[in-house]
Amino acid sequence: MRLNFLVFIMTLCYTLTYAQNDIPKNYFEKPLDIPLLLSGTFGELRSNHFHAGMDIKTKGVTGLAVLASAEGYVGRIKIQHGGYGKALYIYHPNGYQSVYAHLNNFSPEIEALVKKAQYQKESYEIELFPSASDLKVKQGEIIGYSGNSGSSGGPHLHFEIRDYKSKPMNPFLFGFKEVKDSKKPQIFALHAYPLGPLSHVDGMTERVQLKLIQRNDGSYRTESLKAFGTIGFGIDTYDILDLTYNKNGVYSIVTKLNGKPIFKTTFDKFSFYESRYINRLIDFEYYTTEKRRIQKLFLEPNNPLSLYKDVYDNGIISIQKDNLDQSFEIIVSDFMGNTQSILVPLTTDFKENLIQKSIKETEYYAKAKSASVFEEGKIDIYIPKDALYEDRFLDIDIQGLSVKLHEPGTPLHKSITLGFDVSQYSLEDQSKFYIASVTPWGSKYYVSTYKKKDRLTTKVNEFGTYQLFEDTKAPSIKPKNFRDKQWVSNFRFLKLEIDDEDTGIDSYRATVNGEFILMEYDYKTKTLVYDFNDGKISDTKNELKVVVTDKVGNTAIFEAEFFRKN
Ligand SMILES: [Zn+2]
Repeated sequence: MRLNFLVFIMTLCYTLTYAQNDIPKNYFEKPLDIPLLLSGTFGELRSNHFHAGMDIKTKGVTGLAVLASAEGYVGRIKIQHGGYGKALYIYHPNGYQSVYAHLNNFSPEIEALVKKAQYQKESYEIELFPSASDLKVKQGEIIGYSGNSGSSGGPHLHFEIRDYKSKPMNPFLFGFKEVKDSKKPQIFALHAYPLGPLSHVDGMTERVQLKLIQRNDGSYRTESLKAFGTIGFGIDTYDILDLTYNKNGVYSIVTKLNGKPIFKTTFDKFSFYESRYINRLIDFEYYTTEKRRIQKLFLEPNNPLSLYKDVYDNGIISIQKDNLDQSFEIIVSDFMGNTQSILVPLTTDFKENLIQKSIKETEYYAKAKSASVFEEGKIDIYIPKDALYEDRFLDIDIQGLSVKLHEPGTPLHKSITLGFDVSQYSLEDQSKFYIASVTPWGSKYYVSTYKKKDRLTTKVNEFGTYQLFEDTKAPSIKPKNFRDKQWVSNFRFLKLEIDDEDTGIDSYRATVNGEFILMEYDYKTKTLVYDFNDGKISDTKNELKVVVTDKVGNTAIFEAEFFRKN
């Protein structure tokens, strides 16, 4: 009986220990047969999201063989114009998934399956979920070729490892020791924030950037910071790996007050649903104007991010009148354990009658935890619950069919619905209307516009100016590598350039002699490409027809003849 209990306890201990060290080391191999150099790391702060994998440099070119990182089967293939472009997901027997994105094309076997589905659906964009027996892969087997598809800003392979719940994890947790990093994280800037109504730092009631002084050992300190009340800090930091110049994300940040840890963030794992909370983690207003990201080292309400650990008093420091001098320290680490630190000596400095940052009161007050509706003239605004992180007055100005919707520096977590009443216009006019976001320098960007009776609506996830416009211009279609009536027997590809000035391309369809042909569209180069290797063209004389429609339904048709010896 006693022995059984002991065995039970030992098993329990083993299970608990095992659960923590559960991550298989060296199970995954690098997915490219070239030195592993990274242009992006896990958790890096990006627009509205955290980077979910590592970006592997591909020597500036596309077409490098991409290898299955471990055995398994191709369980998902997704092709989209934006996002991950051509992406492939391998499901592994141990429950993990590996993801390979921005590919140029797939291995012949996978490519054949993809093309078949695309011709069946008559669409470039598809998503497939092959079964476990369809496309089994061995470790190191070629599954595709690296590219620059989707919203990739240059040739590279985006590689991810996800757990059995599809949560992306830091690939470094699995090994990939080949990546060398002997350099410390870099500190670009440190900022102090007065947080309470009577708080101040350096005599200021608003954010202050602190001057960094490098010490003999390479670490930093600041001059003694005179402060009072509740205050917090924010850091602008990045990491540099060996052999590359790219600015990557750091792994962990710890802060200590008088030697005691009070705040920690670590990028081991997150959920995709959390990603947009990055706008709560960073100083969003600063980002909007400066295009640099300050990571706040304190927690505010409505921030459920799972990256925080060991947080005391939300990482906020409270300096009272009778406090003696204190010391605050920030330690930034990369995954390989290189650290950089900043020491901030704190001196209590009580000041009265400081000028407080005034809050502009308006007739539009919105609460974070409930929905708000505002209506004026021809425009109505619906702000759902949890769209805002904080209750606040909104600065709204409606002029006819244009609305200045508060300040772009205030982050939005959920979309706001805008409605424009266009009943005063004829149905014909209405059919060409769309809503666009207008930047302060006058550029306009189409936002998805929906029509319901005499009302146009849109959902926007950023504050800013939105206005009604009209698009009557059809898209343009131009041949890129051929002329009408040309012999193209030796051509591998047929290329066209398509563009639309106002609202952008909504759909395109190409046929040869009346039969659908698959054209791949790359929005970055505005190019449509047909691959003759698809084997769909067997006639000598061929009629090509390409129909392109913009987002309000203006349509352009391009027709040409080409000849081919078969
Ligand atoms: Zn990436």
